[in-house]
Amino acid sequence: MNRKDFFKTSFAGAAAVALAGGPVAAIASSCTAAKPKNNTELKLSFQSGKAIGDTYAEKFDYMESLGIVGFEPGGGELVRNFDELSKALEGRNIKLSAICAGFDGFILAEDGQKDAFDKSMRTIVDAAGALGSTGVIMVPAFVFQNPCKPHTPETRQYLCDQLYELGQYALAAGTTVILEPLNREEAFYLRLVSDAAAICRDCGSDGVKCMGDFWHMKEETSDYAAFMSAGPKYLQHVHVASRGRRINPGEDGELDNYVSGFRALKEMEYQNYVSFECGTAGDPAVTTPAAVALLREQWKQA
Ligand code: MG
Repeated sequence: MNRKDFFKTSFAGAAAVALAGGPVAAIASSCTAAKPKNNTELKLSFQSGKAIGDTYAEKFDYMESLGIVGFEPGGGELVRNFDELSKALEGRNIKLSAICAGFDGFILAEDGQKDAFDKSMRTIVDAAGALGSTGVIMVPAFVFQNPCKPHTPETRQYLCDQLYELGQYALAAGTTVILEPLNREEAFYLRLVSDAAAICRDCGSDGVKCMGDFWHMKEETSDYAAFMSAGPKYLQHVHVASRGRRINPGEDGELDNYVSGFRALKEMEYQNYVSFECGTAGDPAVTTPAAVALLREQWKQA
């Protein structure tokens, strides 16, 4: 249907409904009736530090009490505690979500830090794949990391080539690598979800994915559009925090609105995790369960 036909049909439909009964109420109810029920599940995840407890058993008991189904450890922790973590996950209703970085060096380094990245990243990817993680989160370079390749078209092509190799390696290991856009203070050249999604497309490996972090997404003009720009093909993970101080969702009051982003996730039938990456200004025993409840409520509204 072209644009002209769309308007013709929409106006004709609205006019017919308006003539048939009370105009405004009838149009509103016909819109409501047209919206299909969306059963996409909100799968919440905690980073290691968010789960209260000293041992994995204590952390997982706590998470299960709140219905949290994903666990996001750091890459170093994953490699160091591989056997312990693997055992602790047995019989739980908790799976590894993404793995949060933890490698040495960085992929755009112009010195030996690049080799350090290649080696340590692949060790983490192997462990992530073995435990069924959705992917390993990475940032190509923070603004403070040096010496770094210059911000040029050639560097972008180099990044795509390097990511292709890494993505194929991750696929073979049973997982992915996940590009995380940040904000202009931390990574000025990769701060929009759509930028990360375009890199995923251009590097041409199904093992390269991206994510959105509601904290950094303050720089987006629309949470909905940001997630939709990646879509289910590329969006592999989501981080969540309050939007004023990066603490538990809800602790920054009205700023903490996730509804439009959640609507995008529901519409694309997002199957991965929304993971807490934040501290708290209060008592975590109070603010964390409240944050979980707030996110569930907003998911329902979306
Ligand atoms: Mg993050």
